[in-house]
Amino acid sequence: MSDIPSIDAVREATLVEPKKAKSFSLKGSDTRGDKLFESKKDAKASLEEDALAINELQDALFACKTGSLLVVMQGIDTSGKDGTTKEAFRYTSPLGVNVFAFGKPTEEELAHDYLWRLHQRTPKTGYIHVFNRSQYEDVLVVKVRNLAPPKLVEQRYEQINAFEKLLCENGTRVLKLMLNISKEEQGERLRERLEVPEKRWKFNPGDLEDRKLWDQYQAAYDTALQRCSTAHAPWHVVPADSRSRRDAIAARLIRGELEAMKPVYPDPGYRPEQYEIG
Ligand code: ADP
Repeated sequence: MSDIPSIDAVREATLVEPKKAKSFSLKGSDTRGDKLFESKKDAKASLEEDALAINELQDALFACKTGSLLVVMQGIDTSGKDGTTKEAFRYTSPLGVNVFAFGKPTEEELAHDYLWRLHQRTPKTGYIHVFNRSQYEDVLVVKVRNLAPPKLVEQRYEQINAFEKLLCENGTRVLKLMLNISKEEQGERLRERLEVPEKRWKFNPGDLEDRKLWDQYQAAYDTALQRCSTAHAPWHVVPADSRSRRDAIAARLIRGELEAMKPVYPDPGYRPEQYEIG
């Protein structure tokens, strides 16, 4: 018999509770996901069911245009931001789901405030957008690698909270997923990138530099999750050592978010029997 946890159970197990966020630490956070999905078989079955539901919900959202969804996908290199997105949206129409990856800012982007490039990519009503990396890079890599004065970085947590509040108050729900992998698993995945010919293109020697800064990145994530898990846009920490469990957990959360939006097909404004197709 399959044993699929309810969406509420997944939400509760992954949520960084806003009221208790101050004491949050990744140290005590699960990376395996086997308490939620004991078997990979159940995880795969759950993902399949949720991906189909996500497609139906997205179709209705696109039709009724009553709001939009922004999925913020964060996680260190190899945590699976691309893979999770690909699997959760495996059945949705590319017309209504857009993915944006945020890498090193361009000269033009650096000449603006750091939220400028993000705000241009937020979804209009009816759409789902996924941010592969996001505004949080500006308090993660920027902090760890000292790319901006600490005083400026310090101000950003509140600015990000205000930005997300603005989005929520104007019809965009914000679902934030931190894909949490262990250092051992990252080591495995980096080795795999070197060993498997089809994965070699993904290897970037710069990732090894970031790996050396593992503890600093963990600390920067702790601070971001402590200070930016808000009632309007809480963080969820998704265990990501197992790809199938990670995808299943993320899909449960995305489906839950879309269900909460209650998209229903709009009244067409005419009676079908009015028309005769000749
Ligand atoms: P990915 O690693 O996500 O597959 P890339 O190899 O293009 O994609 O890496 C993107 C890089 O851009 C990452 O190292 C990330 O830390 C960096 N980056 C993203 N946002 C910023 C930012 N605001 N400032 C500096 N670097 C950034």
